[in-house]
Amino acid sequence: MRERVDGRFVRAPFSADAAWVGLAARISRRRFLGAAAATAFLAACSSGGSDGGEALAPPPSLSSDPFTLGVASGDPTDDGVVLWTRLAPDPLAGGGMPDEDVDVVWELGTDEDLKQTVAQGVASAIPELGHSVHVDASGLDADRPYWYRFRVGDFETPVARTRTMPAASASPGRMRMGQVSCQRFDPVFFVAYRDLAATEDLDLVVHCGDYIYEKSSVADDASGTSVRDDPLPEAIDLVGYRNRYALTKSDEHLLAAHAIAPWLVTWDDHEVENNYTSDSPEIGSETPGREEFLARRAAAYQAWWEHTPVRLDAPSGPDLRIYRPASFGDLARFLVLDTRQYRSPQVCGDTEAGLDVGPRCPESFEPEFTALGDEQEGWVADQLAGSDAIWNVIVQQVVMQQWRFAPGNTIWNLDQWDGYPAARDRFFETLRASGASNPVVLSGDVHSSWVGSLAADFDDPASEILATEFVATAISSEPSGALTAVTDVVLDNSPHIAWAETTKRGWMLHDVTRDAWRTNVRLVFDPTMEDSQVETESSWVVPAGGTLSEA
Ligand code: FE
Ligand code: CA
Repeated sequence: MRERVDGRFVRAPFSADAAWVGLAARISRRRFLGAAAATAFLAACSSGGSDGGEALAPPPSLSSDPFTLGVASGDPTDDGVVLWTRLAPDPLAGGGMPDEDVDVVWELGTDEDLKQTVAQGVASAIPELGHSVHVDASGLDADRPYWYRFRVGDFETPVARTRTMPAASASPGRMRMGQVSCQRFDPVFFVAYRDLAATEDLDLVVHCGDYIYEKSSVADDASGTSVRDDPLPEAIDLVGYRNRYALTKSDEHLLAAHAIAPWLVTWDDHEVENNYTSDSPEIGSETPGREEFLARRAAAYQAWWEHTPVRLDAPSGPDLRIYRPASFGDLARFLVLDTRQYRSPQVCGDTEAGLDVGPRCPESFEPEFTALGDEQEGWVADQLAGSDAIWNVIVQQVVMQQWRFAPGNTIWNLDQWDGYPAARDRFFETLRASGASNPVVLSGDVHSSWVGSLAADFDDPASEILATEFVATAISSEPSGALTAVTDVVLDNSPHIAWAETTKRGWMLHDVTRDAWRTNVRLVFDPTMEDSQVETESSWVVPAGGTLSEA
C-alpha cells in the first residue's frame, strides 16, 4: 500500500491562513514531518487498517493546498471524537476539486508533535459530499487531549488539538467551555475568536447557531457596514451554501478556535434563511414556494453537515435530526436542541423590521403550537429524567427568557420562545418534572448579551426559578439598534433578567465546578480593529443548588 505515497512529505506552503498556522505551530512546535516519524507512520499504516492492505487511491494532482478550510473536531465522547476537514483548493468557487473520490490520510496521537500516534487511517472524500471528511476516531482514552492532522499527497494540515470527555462514571472537578453564536463574515473582524483561541485549557466550545449567513450584511441592508468584502450572492443551492461556509472559514481566527478544542454545534435560522420555521421561508424569500424552500433547506442542511464536525450520517433530503446529547462525566450533561426544523410556522405574523416583533395570536397558546416538535419534546423529557449530572446544559438557539417591551405589552419577539408561550410552558413543566439538577440554558441569536433566570412566572419577582440562561452575543453579526433603544424598558419590566449589554460583540467563558458555575462575559472593544482589546465586561456565578448572582 505504501509505494503509492512518497516517503518524504513536503509541507504545503500556507499563505492565506498564516496566523492559523502560527497558532497551530504554538500547539505543535514541529512544523515538518521528520523522516524518522514518516517512516514510523508508514510502517504503522502498512501494518494497520482493516482493508488488508488495499491501495490508497493515488492523490490527485493538486496544484495548490486543498486544506484552505482548516480542520475541526467535535461531538467528543469518553472514547472518541469526530475529526473534520474538507478539501477545497478553490474555496469560494465550489471547492475546485476534481470530480473523483480522494483518499485523505489522518493521524491522531497523544503528543503535540504526533510522535506517539495512537490511531490513523484513510478516509474517502467524495464529490457528492463536497470532499468533506468526517472521521469518527474511537477507542481513545477518556478525559485527555489528543492531537491530529490530515494529509493528501504532498499537502498536510498543521497539527490541531482536541480532547475526549471524562468517562460517564467519572466525577471530574472542573470543565472550561466557550459559548459562541452569530458570525456573519463581513460586518466586523472575528476578534472574539482571536480571544477565544488564546484562552487556555478549553475543554469544549458550544456554538448556538448562525455559523454562516445566507447573504452579506450589505445585501441584507443597504446601510449595512462591512470591514471586508463578501463577494458571494445569496445562497440558495448547495454550491452557494458551500461557498458561504468557505468564506466564513477564510477567517484565520475561526480556524484557530477550531484548532484548540472540540466543538458541540447546533444551528439557527441563517444556516438556511433568516427566520425560517420548519417548511416556511421568511417573508420576501427568494424561495417562496414550499417545494422550492424544502429543496433549499436540503441543500443548506447538507452544506451544514459537510462543514460541521458532527457524529451524524450524511443527510439526504430536507430532514436532518441534529438534536443529540453529550456528557462530561457526571459534572455536566448537554442536550443540543433544534428549535428551527420542527417549530410551528409563525402564523401570528412576523413583520416589523429590526425586532421580529408582533402581537401573539390565539394559535400561540394552542397545545400543538410547538417550538421543538413532539418527538424532540419527548426526547428532552427522557434525557432530563435520566440525567444524574450536576449541571444540565441545554444548548439551543433563541432567547428563552421573557422580554417585555413595555409594562403590560401586547407585542413580543415572535421568533424567540416568547412567540411560543405554550411550548415554553411545556418545556418548563418538563424541567420541573424531570428533577434534573441545575439546568442552564445557553442561547444566541440576538447579537447581544443577556444573563438571567428562567422563572415559572416571569412577571412575579418571587416566582420559582427553574433554570439560568446565558445568551451569548454575536461573534460578528450586527447588534440591533432597535433593541438597544428598548433594552432599559425590557430590563425594567423583566425582573428575572439580571443584566444585558446590547452593543458589543464577544463570547462567553464558562468555568464549571461541582460547586459553582462561573461565567465571564468577554466583549470586544472595537471589532473593526483586528487587534482590538477584549475584556471581561461582567462576571456571574450560579452556586450548585442556588440561583444566579453577580460575581
Ligand atoms: Fe444571528
Ligand atoms: Ca438567528
